[in-house]
Amino acid sequence: MGNGDIELDADIVVVGAGMSGLYALKALRDRGFRVIVLERAPEVGGTWYWNRYPGARCDIPSLEYSFGFDPELEQEWEWTEHFAAQPEIERYLNHIADRYDLRRDIRLSTGVSAMTFDATTDTWVVDTETGERLRARFCVMATGGLSAPHRPDWPGLDTFAGEIVQTSLWPEDGVELEGRRVGIVGNGSSGVQAIPELAEVAGHLTVFQRTAAFTWPSQNRPLTEAEQAEVKSRYRELRAAQYASPLATAHTTGAVIFTFADPDKRILESTADEREAALAEHGFSAARIWGDAAKDLEANEMAVELFREMVRRTVHDPEVADSLCPKDYPIGCKRPVLDNGYFETFNRDDVTLVDLRKDPVVEVVPAGVVTASGTKELDVLVFATGFDAVSGALTRIDIRGTDGRLLRDEWTDGPRTLMGFAAAGFPNLLMIIGPGSVGVLATYPPHIELQVGWIADLLDHLRATERTCVEAEVEAQDAWCAEVEAAAAGSMFLAPNCSSWYNGGNIAGKARNLPIYLGGLDRYMARANEMAANGYEGFALR
Ligand code: NAP
Repeated sequence: MGNGDIELDADIVVVGAGMSGLYALKALRDRGFRVIVLERAPEVGGTWYWNRYPGARCDIPSLEYSFGFDPELEQEWEWTEHFAAQPEIERYLNHIADRYDLRRDIRLSTGVSAMTFDATTDTWVVDTETGERLRARFCVMATGGLSAPHRPDWPGLDTFAGEIVQTSLWPEDGVELEGRRVGIVGNGSSGVQAIPELAEVAGHLTVFQRTAAFTWPSQNRPLTEAEQAEVKSRYRELRAAQYASPLATAHTTGAVIFTFADPDKRILESTADEREAALAEHGFSAARIWGDAAKDLEANEMAVELFREMVRRTVHDPEVADSLCPKDYPIGCKRPVLDNGYFETFNRDDVTLVDLRKDPVVEVVPAGVVTASGTKELDVLVFATGFDAVSGALTRIDIRGTDGRLLRDEWTDGPRTLMGFAAAGFPNLLMIIGPGSVGVLATYPPHIELQVGWIADLLDHLRATERTCVEAEVEAQDAWCAEVEAAAAGSMFLAPNCSSWYNGGNIAGKARNLPIYLGGLDRYMARANEMAANGYEGFALR
């Protein structure tokens, strides 16, 4: 790449060595770019390094939640379960790092603290938490959509005499849990996965719940050799289906339904007998059959009532069951959660539910958590309280673009990008799974491959045409943001009472905004490819 007179440490700095960063390094190095990856963790793996809490598991089928860029990799890697557990995915990513000799360009334990665009040379100056400074032409942000941990600011938290851990920062050498009094806060995917596992080992488990969750039995199972062989025999066709589908899915090994099963079925027209029959046949999943619940709040409430009925039938103590019944938000507002015996766990004698809506937290003291009803004495306090999602990992870095403008300030009212790839005012900064893309909705590995491929083509094009700068144009960015907003209209993600990490409602002071394109990955990539074919329409190339 033409570096002019300035000395560059790399053509491209990639921030993050999780799934996105590893593949970006591979793909960009293959194109002949000099790449350096900076990673905060002491190991590669990103999400799958940090989230090593008991029960951590992916809820997308392994045979699809994997890369398709190399048929040999696909054939040689053996998944053991339908939904892989964290250690297996971490091993897979480490295997990729070794197999493609990626480690030589990755600097571990090197978090990025600041990035400053130097408009006089069209380069980025990247400062690390370890005091290093690097200069590169481009930065590719592979910082993840769910990687900036969020922890409530409870009064007295720092006085707690026991151990405080976060599911998303789980220590590598584990946490002593056996026989101890463990408390856990949070009932999203992380909490729901951890709770049954913690209950198995703790002396006593106290679950602090603010909002009851909708969770669906995961039906995880070992993968048989035969079904794995069958998928491997037609992987090209299945990957093609993933790349061309709205959510990068191919339903290889049984459908995972994150939406409602039958768009044409109307719960509003169902009879009580039909609903009862559905409960008998499908259990909790009965609530996800009727398609009118996807957009109609009255229909949705009927589906919610079916779910509540199933909770009441599963949980023995009526008061606990009532607390575990979601009451004030629709199915589809929050990310669906898959569980392994979550509700049954509350039938154990050594598990207590504290319903924070009825019994709020007052403070934390050395002995434990004080709620309105008294002190819950604890040895370990686990926070499964989620993330400053989608934009948080980017706004936590001091990213300064043209004229010193700070990305965090520019995004006070919500992130603004062109297709999630780039933001006006921040030249030569490209994002993978960025805000404004389909992002967290589509299966990550194939989605990452498509986005990284597009970015690699763009950087190739700049090199071939001897340009040193690419920037999103404001008008194109505004038009795209309007399109993202239009696609979200009427969706349950923005329903009244809906507060979630998708829409920023989980973080105090964060703008309510859905920076996720709901039009589907297929339409998104068609648009991205069309823009590329039109000479990167919407981007200024200089
Ligand atoms: P989350 O879905 O945001 O859930 C956080 C939980 O913490 C919620 O129950 C929330 O309650 C609670 N919470 C937050 N602040 C609180 C406070 N001050 N007091 C009491 N409770 C509080 O986070 P997550 O469970 O880590 O999951 C995030 C996403 O990561 C998932 O949706 C999924 O996309 C991904 N993930 C996937 C898997 C998987 O593949 N199976 C596993 C883990 C995570 P409110 O609802 O009241 O805010």
